[in-house]
Amino acid sequence: AEEMLLKSEKLSVVGQLAAGVAHEIRNPLTSLKGFLQLLQQRTNENEFFFELMLSELDRINNIVSEFLVLSKPQITKMEPRNLVQVVRVVIAFLTSQALLNNVQIVTHVLTEDEVIVDCDENQLKQVFINLLKNAVESMTMGGTINVSLSHPVPGRVNVRFEDQGQGIPPERLQKLGEPFYTTKEKGTGLGLMVSFRIIQEHGGTVKVQSEVGIGTIFDVNLPVRVN
Ligand code: ADP
Ligand code: MG
Repeated sequence: AEEMLLKSEKLSVVGQLAAGVAHEIRNPLTSLKGFLQLLQQRTNENEFFFELMLSELDRINNIVSEFLVLSKPQITKMEPRNLVQVVRVVIAFLTSQALLNNVQIVTHVLTEDEVIVDCDENQLKQVFINLLKNAVESMTMGGTINVSLSHPVPGRVNVRFEDQGQGIPPERLQKLGEPFYTTKEKGTGLGLMVSFRIIQEHGGTVKVQSEVGIGTIFDVNLPVRVN
């Protein structure tokens, strides 16, 4: 399988630029959506166009939301958290959505009770949500996602997300994390970019291995708290 260490150097410039714009876009967007819904209620014609416009507005809103994560100046809330617990909460949160897609998330490998990591819990959750959502979305025929924790070297913990999805062709691996790189009709192409940046700010790395038709493995490697 192709393996690649994903870097996030290209992120910061875009993030800073986008931050201000994102904030400014939010309010007019909300008001546009409100008036559109009002118009929609007042007529029973052109239902299709209304739905289309509303869903396009939602798309803009998603993009803006992901940019706003980038715009957060830097992580200030680094606190000791139990990574096992964080992973479990995220999985519980996504289990029903996964099942709707015939995807099972298996965590039998989370045998440890406690692995303490200094982190911004919400940001870390967002990374795991992004990776799990991508995994689910890649498994159009359903299947299993395995989530496991390991300690490749002392002082580090590795969280592995292994899916049975469509995989990523080798020539596309380096595109992961580029702003707006998406192969999905309704994708933003920002989830991985945000995720790589968050992990980088935690002193971690993200590695990906993938094989078309077999599946994809994302490894998130983080420093464990030293006492
Ligand atoms: P989005 O999900 O909005 O497309 P992401 O940044 O999350 O944006 O992902 C970018 C692209 O990387 C996806 O469109 C997809 O082509 C590819 N990708 C990410 N994760 C996986 C995965 N687990 N399996 C297959 N392809 C993936
Ligand atoms: Mg995504």
